[in-house]
Amino acid sequence: MTATRVLVLNSGSSSVKYQLLDMRDSSRLAVGLVERIGEETSRLKHTPLTGGGAESREREEPIADHEAALRAVADELAADGLGLDSPELAAIGHRVVHGGLKFTEPTVIDDAVLKEIERLVPVAPLHNPANITGIRTAQALRPDLPQVAVFDTAFHTTMPESAARYAIDVATADEHRVRRYGFHGTSHAYVSRKTARLLGKAPEDVNVIVLHLGNGASASAVRGGRCVDTSMGLTPLEGLVMGTRSGDMDPAVIFHLARVGKMSIDEIDILLNKKSGLIGLCGDNDMREIRRRIDAGDEEAALAFEIYIHRLKKYIGAYYAALGRVDAVVFTAGVGENAAPVREAAVAGLEELGLAVDGALNSVRSDEARLISPEYARVAVAVVPTDEELEIADQTYALVGDRNA
Ligand code: AMP
Repeated sequence: MTATRVLVLNSGSSSVKYQLLDMRDSSRLAVGLVERIGEETSRLKHTPLTGGGAESREREEPIADHEAALRAVADELAADGLGLDSPELAAIGHRVVHGGLKFTEPTVIDDAVLKEIERLVPVAPLHNPANITGIRTAQALRPDLPQVAVFDTAFHTTMPESAARYAIDVATADEHRVRRYGFHGTSHAYVSRKTARLLGKAPEDVNVIVLHLGNGASASAVRGGRCVDTSMGLTPLEGLVMGTRSGDMDPAVIFHLARVGKMSIDEIDILLNKKSGLIGLCGDNDMREIRRRIDAGDEEAALAFEIYIHRLKKYIGAYYAALGRVDAVVFTAGVGENAAPVREAAVAGLEELGLAVDGALNSVRSDEARLISPEYARVAVAVVPTDEELEIADQTYALVGDRNA
């Protein structure tokens, strides 16, 4: 029997998201999520997608740790005849947030690879430990199965030094590995490639500005399929205004808050990562709610929206300049795919750059990749739904495919 299934695991600090795909047709066999791992009120939501209906099953019970979570997921899959012991399972693909400079490609995980991912914990203290736990647990469940790491940073490793380095003392930066790594790379890779296809061109022939606008948000400049700049940096804090993160700021704000505001480094970390961005500006981080408040005449929400859009426009302009020629500006992720007012406002006034949005096309709701610019526009504006799980499964299967041939 040919093994054609890939299980994609996205292990967070207290959650595991998973999808089981059949790579013959990229179809989903099951999707699910375990939340609040380690708490009394853990929850597992599992949705089998085989056999017509998509009836979800939910369990609420204490799930102590990632190992227990993955065992519970394995049980749910087994109940649908999709167990992890199936000979049809080809590999497990893991989303790993930080791959540093070393991991420029998806990589089959062995002890040396795992050690290197561990070595990167100081630059990704929130993310890599959870990813490592997910990998170890999956290895324990199926030691014989190839496990592949697909890194969020990999797509950005093509950035030139001019974009990747901060202008700080080189020896200090190198000693502490302080540089711009970028994140959401799996999404930027997938979306930029799909945009080329939408334009009927090869990725090598197009220059694209990708705007990944979710609760976390990042922009990237992609020249001929290779990333030349991205807005997130050493951590996901840099760049655009996000749901709860400030994005770009004068770093001296931190000294000021510490010295004058008497805040600790941990307090400032929480302020900038969890209590800033849209939620800090207006108390809401969901763009739907912010639009509702604006429609009801709420000035605080309107200002938060303006600040969000102003930053977005600055990045479109900056990446236009970095690329020189732009074939498409593309919106993706929760806000980018769904919020027509964000797309309209981000492009408004940029006609001199060849950018425009067609009102009717922009207001269409669809899950398909689509153009929203008018015929006459020099630069295409597009909406391309991202699919990080499919990209991880594709990259994983491409790597282990030979073993199954
Ligand atoms: P993501 O991180 O990609 O899952 O995106 C999550 C964000 O997408 C949410 O916080 C919402 O702000 C936004 N979002 C989802 N659906 C909509 C919608 N229909 N209109 C506006 N924003 C949306």
